[in-house]
Amino acid sequence: MPSQPANAAWTVPADDEAPLESVRFHGLKSGPKLLVLGAVHGNETCGPNAIARIIDDCRAGRLLIRRGEVTFVPVTNPKAYRQNSREGDRNLNRDMYERPQPIDNEDRIGRRLCALLREHEVLLDVHSFRGEGEPFAFFGPENNNGNLEPFRHDAAELALAACLGVPVAIHGWLDNYVKLIAARERLNLPRLAVTEGYGTTEFMRFAGAYGVTLECGRHDDPASIEVGYAAIRNTLAHLGLIDARPPPGALDCVIHMTEVVICEAEGDVVEDGWKTGDIVPVGAVMARRADGTAVTAPCDGYIIFPSKTARPGEPICHFGVASPRKSRP
Ligand SMILES: [Zn+2]
Repeated sequence: MPSQPANAAWTVPADDEAPLESVRFHGLKSGPKLLVLGAVHGNETCGPNAIARIIDDCRAGRLLIRRGEVTFVPVTNPKAYRQNSREGDRNLNRDMYERPQPIDNEDRIGRRLCALLREHEVLLDVHSFRGEGEPFAFFGPENNNGNLEPFRHDAAELALAACLGVPVAIHGWLDNYVKLIAARERLNLPRLAVTEGYGTTEFMRFAGAYGVTLECGRHDDPASIEVGYAAIRNTLAHLGLIDARPPPGALDCVIHMTEVVICEAEGDVVEDGWKTGDIVPVGAVMARRADGTAVTAPCDGYIIFPSKTARPGEPICHFGVASPRKSRP
């Protein structure tokens, strides 16, 4: 018996060790190898729904893949997808690497998924989020030879983020994760490995390629499917896999994540009303400690991922500033 969450267009086998299903189109001319992932988090069904429509378009000839290759994985975490939950046993988009001895669902998927990531040159990973807010894209660091995330495709990656059709792009994820790990150490909370911050896009960069994470909107908002669908089409045009005019860049705000506010004790809460991408003036209250002390913005900036459910050691929100990085047309 196949199964799927309500309102989801793709079915997966009802087995905890179901195989991953991919659909690949090979253009007859050379070009880049693109991988499009959906449902890395099982309850984010805009990805499978958008990808199912694109696959139909490709099969029907409404979209003709002429160059390169595109591989679609509509459901990257089948166990979580069947459960309509974010995770199967743990977050697939953290601590991702090839484990010789997998012990849980995400280890088993991660091992196959890493092999698939290595076969491709570009990744578009389609997600959605819980709260309100505008769709946005996550992209990676500037070119560098550092230890954390050495990289050499910054311009191509930012151009990909800019083509998707969403107004906001954010970078600085892994640097903020290092800050989170340090804060947890100061609080004597269980240690996190630095690899904890590594998900699909970080693995792509590690493997010498590049990729972006697209956050299409609220999980249950039908508009998030449209955002995902348009972004995949735009990516196919941008990379030249289909014959279509490359989309005009829609990016009007690039944010560099610079701070993380960590929940230090029960009762630390994010201030009401914030959503990702909101402008935060210097001195504005972002969160309050259990004793009522305000945590304020250190300068003019933006709030990212406010969480009302943060437990001690988890981020209450992230903070970022206007980034000087711009996509070149
Ligand atoms: Zn997600």
